[in-house]
Amino acid sequence: MSKYRCEVCDYTYDEAAGAPREGFPAGTPWANVPDDWTCPDCGVREKLDFDLIGE
Ligand SMILES: [Zn+2]
Repeated sequence: MSKYRCEVCDYTYDEAAGAPREGFPAGTPWANVPDDWTCPDCGVREKLDFDLIGE
């Protein structure tokens, strides 16, 4: 599973952990996150702006 990081605030989306607060249960692949989802911490960056930081 991969992780993706917001370049603005360093919030990290971990596929293994998901983001239950956002409605994505643990194990939700990044591909299932909507393209217009915004960073829950800063609200500035959208999914497409996140950087892949590996497994
Ligand atoms: Zn952010």
